[in-house]
Amino acid sequence: MNRTERKRHALAAAAAHGLAAPLAGFVDLAGIREAVEDLTKAFAPLGQVQHTVAVKACGLAPVLRFLGDLGVDAEVASPGETAVAEAAGLRGPRLVLDSPAKTTAELAHALAEGTAVNADSFQELARLDRLVTTTPRSVLGVRINPQVGAGRIGDTSTATAMSKFGIPLRDDGNRARLKDAFARRPWLTRLHVHVGSQGCPPQLMADGVAAVHELAEAINADAGHRQVTSIDLGGGLPVDFASEDQGPTYAEYVATLLARVPALAGGRYGFVTEFGRSLLAKNGFLVSTVEYTKVAGGRPVAVTHAGAQVAARTVLQPEHWPLRLTALDPSGAPKAGPAVPQDIAGPLCFAGDLLARERPLPLLEPGDLVVAHDTGAYYFGAHYAYNTLPRPAVHGFTVSGRGEVRFTPIRRAQTLSELVADAGAEYAGALPRA
Ligand SMILES: *Cc1c(COP(=O)(O)O)cnc(C)c1O
Repeated sequence: MNRTERKRHALAAAAAHGLAAPLAGFVDLAGIREAVEDLTKAFAPLGQVQHTVAVKACGLAPVLRFLGDLGVDAEVASPGETAVAEAAGLRGPRLVLDSPAKTTAELAHALAEGTAVNADSFQELARLDRLVTTTPRSVLGVRINPQVGAGRIGDTSTATAMSKFGIPLRDDGNRARLKDAFARRPWLTRLHVHVGSQGCPPQLMADGVAAVHELAEAINADAGHRQVTSIDLGGGLPVDFASEDQGPTYAEYVATLLARVPALAGGRYGFVTEFGRSLLAKNGFLVSTVEYTKVAGGRPVAVTHAGAQVAARTVLQPEHWPLRLTALDPSGAPKAGPAVPQDIAGPLCFAGDLLARERPLPLLEPGDLVVAHDTGAYYFGAHYAYNTLPRPAVHGFTVSGRGEVRFTPIRRAQTLSELVADAGAEYAGALPRA
């Protein structure tokens, strides 16, 4: 059974069990398993590869545990992500710590745990000098900004000339400073590059990898031995949000990499990957009920419970992050009827809180369901707390060969008392009287 068929069964079952009301996220566990199989198979020609998932794409502990059981480690970029990954059973060398703002406490924790660290700046390297007193258990590396340019979306392009991430390779003197930094620190053994997310074509990503591979070779030539032993290739493979298709496959990406840098297959380096969106986006979707409908200025509007709190990028930058939406009847079956351009609104109190504008769909009615596809990464896992709206429940599902759907809880919906506690309720009476 393919992903589209599994989704159809899951939607009908979710509607029958009332799981979609008023809003919930769903994760296709078989889809994740297939994505991991594609990933590991595709990268096999590169030899020794540690695959990690970028936790910011979906920081849900059961999903991280599920991935961990499939052999996928985790890339973390904050104390919160680290704590969630550790709670999911991934710790120490199964984690890679990336972040431009690591505190001394975070670095010390990573070093004590044997977690790999990619330093983001020369200042961070100086801080590591004070923390690394004996031969570290952690693999320590440096994030390079290869400055190969931007993809289609500025906010997710990290290899521009002035990006805030990594050490800019082409800035005056930096190549020499980097070689010197490695010469003076025998414990630096890794280079890291992440060219960007969504909108960066594989060719641009390969340009970044080529620049870093060339730097590794130069450092090793200077050292007279193979000091740099691994290259962290980052993540960033884009996803096709316009159809049920995946977009570029891992196999196509590896072919692009090998065409650009054939030496990657030589077994001279170990590798790390940090994919997020390409592993998870297609394996999750959001479902909301239609609460009300109206006509405004002649245009039909369907008011749902899915807005910027679960789809911040789509709502705030609709030109970059459009989502496919499907209209379902209350039984979870595709709704029939001619397509009518209508606005699909969320519940938040600002006029721009729209999942889609003038989207041609069968005319929605109260009680219908709206599916937002490809939201398994960066959507329901990355909540935006506007209007004190709760994080929605997330359900994992599997589908048997006969179409029976089994749901397993991944996260329950945030409760009102949790929202109240997060709003500083313990200090409700603590301010001085006016
Ligand atoms: C966001 C990020 C990733 C994952 O990017 P995807 O586009 O989700 O694959 C990997 N590495 C780093 C350093 C990141 O910031």
